[in-house]
Amino acid sequence: MTRAAVLHEGTDVLTIEEITSTPLDPREVRVRTKACGLCHSDYHVIDGTLARPRPHVLGHEAAGIVAEVGSQVTAFAPGDHVVTCLVMGCGDCKRCAQGQPTLCTGGAATKRAAGEPPRQQTLDGRPITGFANVGGLSEEIVIDERGLVAIGDDVPMDLAAILGCAVVTGLGAVFNVADVQPGDSVAVIGCGGVGLNVIQGARIAGASQIIAIDLSPAKLEAAKALGATDTVDASQSDAVAEVQRLSGGGVDHAFEVIGRPATAEQALAMCANGRTAYVLGVMSDDAEFSVRAEYTKRGKSLRGVMMGATRPRVDIPRYVEMWRRGQLDLDGMVSRRLPLDDVNDGFRAMAAGEVNRAVVVFP
Ligand SMILES: [Zn+2]
Ligand SMILES: [Zn+2]
Repeated sequence: MTRAAVLHEGTDVLTIEEITSTPLDPREVRVRTKACGLCHSDYHVIDGTLARPRPHVLGHEAAGIVAEVGSQVTAFAPGDHVVTCLVMGCGDCKRCAQGQPTLCTGGAATKRAAGEPPRQQTLDGRPITGFANVGGLSEEIVIDERGLVAIGDDVPMDLAAILGCAVVTGLGAVFNVADVQPGDSVAVIGCGGVGLNVIQGARIAGASQIIAIDLSPAKLEAAKALGATDTVDASQSDAVAEVQRLSGGGVDHAFEVIGRPATAEQALAMCANGRTAYVLGVMSDDAEFSVRAEYTKRGKSLRGVMMGATRPRVDIPRYVEMWRRGQLDLDGMVSRRLPLDDVNDGFRAMAAGEVNRAVVVFP
């Protein structure tokens, strides 16, 4: 038995309860969880923006120690330190072969087939699903090996946890998609866990101007600490006009990291002619926003970015190396550590904008 934070039907409060796991499939790994970050995507399940079958274990940004491996697993052994990443390319489809596992079309390969027992279940035998095929807010994770990346024993688990979502999403957008160059100007709308990592990535890439936009003075302070050169409090001024003024006519790259139609439109308005706005924020699938025809004439582009176009086993070791060299600040990202029993308060603090990243730490 293992303790987990379970989201049941008809409630927005997680219950801490004992659950059980079933025997491993050949390519699965059992991980003893040591830390799991709280992400807005998890919160979107709680608030109903993302519909998921319940009972459900949230959490997809975890780090831990391998406890047991399935019969076909050769890349991991008990005792290995690992992080989870929800980008689980099947390894066999055309997109995976092209190095684009975030666009994998063979997702079924990393899940249990219909008719198989669930990976985890309640004590009275009801199947439990794990968010993003991970389910990290549990003392034990059962996961396909393709959702794991080995890290060195020198990375503290509470810092390692955030590599799997906040860091890969933010830095991946900068390095894998926007390809920010030294001297470029950047605007970032939304300074939560992902937005702060876009800011860090832009700093590491050598951007000369990094404009952070948020409604929270505390978030803007955090943005400055992680590399923002200018800040705009969007509750006090017109963010688009401010960015246009500060950058002298628009930025080279504008990143929307909130997930709202209005801010996606603002990102496009903030970028310079011929440049690109990137939407990282998660919106409900039927949300719509409009694009001024003028922007096509001015050569602007709008690009959606899925999970930083991450290739987990290429990018996460790179980011660990950036951390070792003092370039990537993970410590400054984790502003609250809490036990699993306090997970509801952790989500409350996250939704209230009180934390850069809150991380649940397991004994
Ligand atoms: Zn996430
Ligand atoms: Zn694939």
